[in-house]
Amino acid sequence: MTSIEDVSIRRVLDSRGNATVEVDVWGDWFFGRCAAPSGASTGRFEAQALPQGGAEAAVITFWKLVAPKVVGMDVRDQAGIDALLREIDGTPNFAKIGGNVATALSLAVAKAAAHSQGVPLYRYLSGLMPDVLPYPMGNVIGGGRHAVGGTNIQEFLALARSDSFSDAAFTNAAVHKAVRDIYLKKKPGASLGKGDEGAWVVPVRDEEALRILADACKKVGKDVGFDVNPALDVAASELYSKGSYKYGKKSMKPREQIKFMAGLVETYGLASVEDPLEQEDFDGYAELTDMVGEECLVVGDDLFVTNPARIEEGIERGAANAVLIKPNQIGTLTDVLRAVRIANSAGYETIVSHRSGETADDTIAHLAVAFGSVAIKTGAVGGERISKLNELMRIEEGLDGE
Ligand code: PGA
Ligand code: ZN
Repeated sequence: MTSIEDVSIRRVLDSRGNATVEVDVWGDWFFGRCAAPSGASTGRFEAQALPQGGAEAAVITFWKLVAPKVVGMDVRDQAGIDALLREIDGTPNFAKIGGNVATALSLAVAKAAAHSQGVPLYRYLSGLMPDVLPYPMGNVIGGGRHAVGGTNIQEFLALARSDSFSDAAFTNAAVHKAVRDIYLKKKPGASLGKGDEGAWVVPVRDEEALRILADACKKVGKDVGFDVNPALDVAASELYSKGSYKYGKKSMKPREQIKFMAGLVETYGLASVEDPLEQEDFDGYAELTDMVGEECLVVGDDLFVTNPARIEEGIERGAANAVLIKPNQIGTLTDVLRAVRIANSAGYETIVSHRSGETADDTIAHLAVAFGSVAIKTGAVGGERISKLNELMRIEEGLDGE
């Protein structure tokens, strides 16, 4: 029998020192645990992470409304359990029980189910052995909502593309080091801090930061002998107000923003550009995708919020060519699976992603493998970031042994 015998929840710390939740699911001989992360630059259309009253209120609601109904269900009935969570909550965005409670429980159920079958989560979800692993996408210079005193653009990332996941992850870490060295050569003795995702906070203008990153990628790429390209997460909704994008004192109309983004893709050979426009501008996304979509991933994060309906709208309108997948933006594994299926059926790539406020939970490493995602965006360095990278190295080792 694979029925759930017990569940439990606790308030835990995230990497910013804020409270989030972790859920345990127990059966007779199997177990699953998952903690959900939290964002800082959250999209307007994503699930509400915690109910009013925060993590403490979430714990109380869980014991009162969720636990009694989930105990006794079959741990392999993912769709049934996820539908039950929606029914208990009754709001469109998990405002009542909290998207993080739903996410942590939904994924803990999947992990317990995998354990009950004696297989790793990625294999339980895909049913197959993967033939390729995702590329790691690592944040090396950070600003925006993730850092004080940094760039306007939120993330300057490295995307190392090697057949070996391990080599690629070490390469991103080498780019992270190279950025520090290049900057300190320009400004000897300067102090350099880190933002929420372990990326350097470099007090320079956006394009200067991109130049430093591109130089670092080139230098490290030459050493390793495979492609290492720069990428951006602009998080443009955070820059957008009253019809224009604000870069400090400089401001750009949507048309100029599209041109600016296309120019950066050309000049710096960007492998990917995420949220280049604000979260409601499907048409702007479509225009940019027409311009650079052949050579570059145009990724919707706040645009899609892992929401199947929004992804469908994007596909219809030709907006973007890749979808960022963050489970707690939508709240259940069933919806995440639907989002991935819809994206793939239209030829869109997926990139599974961490949040800026993370825990050491490594579940997303398995999701990225199971979904056949082109990349996993989970930082370059830092304990809560490397927990996912190191898990992928273990997965890679397991595949080599097959
Ligand atoms: P968040 O941002 O986790 O702070 O929402 C990360 C991102 O925009 O990708
Ligand atoms: Zn983003």
